[in-house]
Amino acid sequence: MREIGHFIGGKHVAGTSGRSSKVYNPATGEMQATVALASVEEIRAAVENAKAAQPKWAATNPQRRARVFFKFVELLNKNMDELATLLSKEHGKTVEDSKGDVLRGLEVCEFVCGIPHLQKGEFTEGAGPAIDMYSIRQPVGVGAGITPFNFPAMIPMWMFAPAIACGNAFILKPSERDPSVPLRLAELMIEAGLPAGILNVVNGDKAAVDAILTDPDIAAVSFVGSTPIARYVYGTAAMNGKRAQCFGGAKNHMIIMPDADMDQAVNALMGAGYGSAGERCMAVSVAVPVGEDTANRLVEKLVPKIESLRIGPYTDDKADLGPLVTKDAYNRVNGLIDRGVEEGAKLVVDGRGFKLQGYEDGYFVGGTLFDHVKPEMDIYKTEIFGPVLSVVRAKNYEEALDLPMKHEYGNGVAIYTRDGDAARDFASRINIGMIGVNVPIPVPLAYHSFGGWKASSFGDLNQHGTDSIKFWTRTKTITARWPSGIKDGAEFVMPTMK
Ligand code: NAD
Repeated sequence: MREIGHFIGGKHVAGTSGRSSKVYNPATGEMQATVALASVEEIRAAVENAKAAQPKWAATNPQRRARVFFKFVELLNKNMDELATLLSKEHGKTVEDSKGDVLRGLEVCEFVCGIPHLQKGEFTEGAGPAIDMYSIRQPVGVGAGITPFNFPAMIPMWMFAPAIACGNAFILKPSERDPSVPLRLAELMIEAGLPAGILNVVNGDKAAVDAILTDPDIAAVSFVGSTPIARYVYGTAAMNGKRAQCFGGAKNHMIIMPDADMDQAVNALMGAGYGSAGERCMAVSVAVPVGEDTANRLVEKLVPKIESLRIGPYTDDKADLGPLVTKDAYNRVNGLIDRGVEEGAKLVVDGRGFKLQGYEDGYFVGGTLFDHVKPEMDIYKTEIFGPVLSVVRAKNYEEALDLPMKHEYGNGVAIYTRDGDAARDFASRINIGMIGVNVPIPVPLAYHSFGGWKASSFGDLNQHGTDSIKFWTRTKTITARWPSGIKDGAEFVMPTMK
């Protein structure tokens, strides 16, 4: 059995804690590896390596730092098939979808190739007599990232690329459910020319996370995962004096106005609701048709499409979606479908009991559709994170708008309409971070920033875009005077510009 360890100081090291977790192939249910779970001492060893390597890296000029990312991008493209297959084998998503996972991370690496420009400071000449004032952005030192299972390539890169480009060293604690791709990314960073110790990957569970959150030498922590853990990480990191940005769960709505192009809206819902088996934080899990006629037309068009979804293992290159990540996830999603039935929602397409010949032990759930879901139901309030779409019928636009407004989560939302006024009003009034107008999964590109509102995000700076450069650096402002020819005595009052 393959034993997955850590990557510390530029090389693979075996775990020493004596604790490990199992890694499965979700398509077959077979255990394919064990992954070591780090102890406090192993986190410490990684931090010591990072701390020792960081000053020299920070002193490396930004063009040279950028060159590592130019090379890394080249290596990602060269190794794309291998990375995507490795990812699918542990996550379960289709290989094409895994390539998307790698590519969305790669795009942030492309963005940070501009670090010489992005990290430039500000300068004011003549802020006072013979006085110049300038602000510089220095790396925070050692940063850490804690990532979820659902994007094991993209989210680690969203974190370590800007952190490292800014001159920090980094400790990555990936999900223990699919740990192989993050380790491979660390190897490729070394191949791209990154000095040893700047990117360390330490596998683990709560014990490793707690060790990160209390380590005195880690200055900033980025977290992506479920809301309860995001809230915990944010609070604990802040209590320990660290800068933190923590991104949590979601329940993304799509409003379908009566004038929407229904075929476009239905296709968008199919991809955004069932792609990656619904295991995306930007998946659309609630469709809100406005008016009875819109709702009837929507459901009528959705049903045959859901029933003909092609579900398969990652080796099936025609599959639309794969299995869920673990047996626990499979049981949880099936349990929530049972709950929806108990609560009185109308189960229009039932994905429970879906079996694929030859893969009977895989964690497959078929595409599922609930109609007449009400806001007080658990299946509406809970993030299901599976291939389950709920239709909540709204009488009018205001009632539709009210649903995502009042929901606990605020990650993404979309509106389908041909009416520019409605779309504009919606984008302006909604209390959610990322809005799609006739776009179902509005994940911003690398040079804008990604982040939700409400219980989907804790902290005030988003991922990638210029926010990420701010998050991974500290501002230092220097006031300098070269007073040749100026003679003055001691000043005892506060200096002002009066
Ligand atoms: P998770 O919260 O279970 O795990 C995330 C990370 O936290 C993992 O590294 C895990 O090892 C660690 N962890 C788990 N339990 C912990 C504990 N008790 N104490 C400390 N650390 C702990 O999330 P997941 O199931 O891997 O990922 C799915 C969730 O992530 C969904 O809720 C999804 O919406 C969310 N997500 C959010 C975004 C976003 O940007 N908002 C992006 C992707 C995923």
